[in-house]
Amino acid sequence: MSWIQTVDNLQDQMTILIGSAIRLLCGEVGVFVISNEAFDPRSGTEYVLYRLEESALAPLLSFVQESLQPTSRHPLIIEMTEPEFTQQLRVGLPADVHELPAELECCSLAVTDQHGPIGVLHFLRPVGQRSCLEQTTDTEAGERSPIFLFIAQLAASLRFALQAQSLVKEQDRLAAIFHHSTEGLLTVDNALRIIDFNPAMERLTGWHESEVLGQFYFTVLRPRDRQGNELGLQDSPILQCFAGQPLVNRDMIITTRDGQSVDVRVTASCVRSPRGEPVSGILTVHDISREREQEEQRSTFISVISHELQTPIAIIKGYASTLARAGSRLKPDVVRSRLYAIEDEADRLNKLVGNLLYASRIQAQGLQMDVAPLQLEPLIHRVIRRLQVKYPDLDIALDISPDLPTVMADRDRIEEVLQNLLDNAIKYSPDKPAITIAARATSNDVIVSVRDAGMGISLRDQEQIFQRFRRLGDPLAQSTPGAGLGLYICRAIVEAHGGRIWVDSALRQGSTFSFSLPREEQAHLPMVVF
Ligand code: ADP
Repeated sequence: MSWIQTVDNLQDQMTILIGSAIRLLCGEVGVFVISNEAFDPRSGTEYVLYRLEESALAPLLSFVQESLQPTSRHPLIIEMTEPEFTQQLRVGLPADVHELPAELECCSLAVTDQHGPIGVLHFLRPVGQRSCLEQTTDTEAGERSPIFLFIAQLAASLRFALQAQSLVKEQDRLAAIFHHSTEGLLTVDNALRIIDFNPAMERLTGWHESEVLGQFYFTVLRPRDRQGNELGLQDSPILQCFAGQPLVNRDMIITTRDGQSVDVRVTASCVRSPRGEPVSGILTVHDISREREQEEQRSTFISVISHELQTPIAIIKGYASTLARAGSRLKPDVVRSRLYAIEDEADRLNKLVGNLLYASRIQAQGLQMDVAPLQLEPLIHRVIRRLQVKYPDLDIALDISPDLPTVMADRDRIEEVLQNLLDNAIKYSPDKPAITIAARATSNDVIVSVRDAGMGISLRDQEQIFQRFRRLGDPLAQSTPGAGLGLYICRAIVEAHGGRIWVDSALRQGSTFSFSLPREEQAHLPMVVF
């Protein structure tokens, strides 16, 4: 049997009630065992103790269950207890009831009303004690006899108290659901003023409950439709619900405390009075910004990839057709330049496909690094030499601290990172690129930076460009070939080394991309990053 204490704040009231009943029947100590059928079949057996410790409960109940069967004809069943039993029980009595007489009788009183059983009151009293309630000789009095009237009174009070207790428990259950729900929940009164605002709603909107209580919910959420048009009061989900049109899963945009927009899906419902008038409204708010972002990513992916594939294919096809049809009539240097262009575009396609595979591998299985002690200065020179083959006029300044410490890194991958940052510095510099590569050591890391004086990146965009397929809206950036994968791959590589990559930039003033790699003695490698 599992024992569950009744709700704390009502416990005192119940104890007073049970204590008074026991006292009226001349008892000293006792327990009221609540009938589960009557109240909460979901919970274990509940009881209210009067001047008894929990340890006395088991012996007392085993005694009464074995020998006492209360009936409606004799509501109070009295049984003499054995001295050993009394002895056993004494251990569980509080200090002030230790002076109980040696001879005790155990009484049980079934408490029922017209709705059914409420519970059984078991108590101990000195042998031979009788209360005035039991002193009737009128056997005909039946249900009008004092003991039956007493039971009816007790039953009414207990049923009322237990119902209040169930209500409190129900309220606690609902409060827990409201509090711990991952969905945003708010409730309003019939004037649409907020009366509850759960923690998920606080997280979603940035408003604290105390700031919004009593406020008109529309002015707090400032909802807009998916196109961004402000919703009028006639579109208020709760108002529509009050008017008898329940609203389920409607997509809208709400505004957070700091002015950010969040895509949400809302469902409104309402509570009505017995006469059908709306009393309060409930709004469930589900954050779908992540889903939206993924949707957007998918469509960006398709448009970026199709554009990035179409352009080189069109160039290759155009030049190849020209060469096939009129190659023999073209001057050799024109033919050569067309072939170089085809080679460049094929390289671009190759790089794109390679990057796509790389990105999907990062997503699926992370990156396994093949690390070894690495000197960065020779690696930087090698990458510059390779670039100068492609861009003979390219001027790159170097600012490398002397005695740069060795790092633990995967040489090929770090070359890729540097190559990518330099490619970007060239691509996103509308005028002749002015690039500086710097490298310096801190106590834990070596930091390599690539600085350009190109178009720069706004603060807002700086947070986004390391995500997959993220390209800037600027017309120059849009017209530059790229699929928004380079920086995503760079970040995965650097983080797989236990390093960090970041950008400092200002629009139209240039950007500095930096990454850190742990010094040889600090590295905890190899590692895999997802
Ligand atoms: P992409 O292939 O598009 O260049 P990246 O992931 O390398 O992909 O870069 C993501 C976006 O970041 C670019 O589309 C560009 O808008 C911006 N970006 C990257 N490097 C620079 C830079 N040095 N200057 C300005 N914008 C840059």
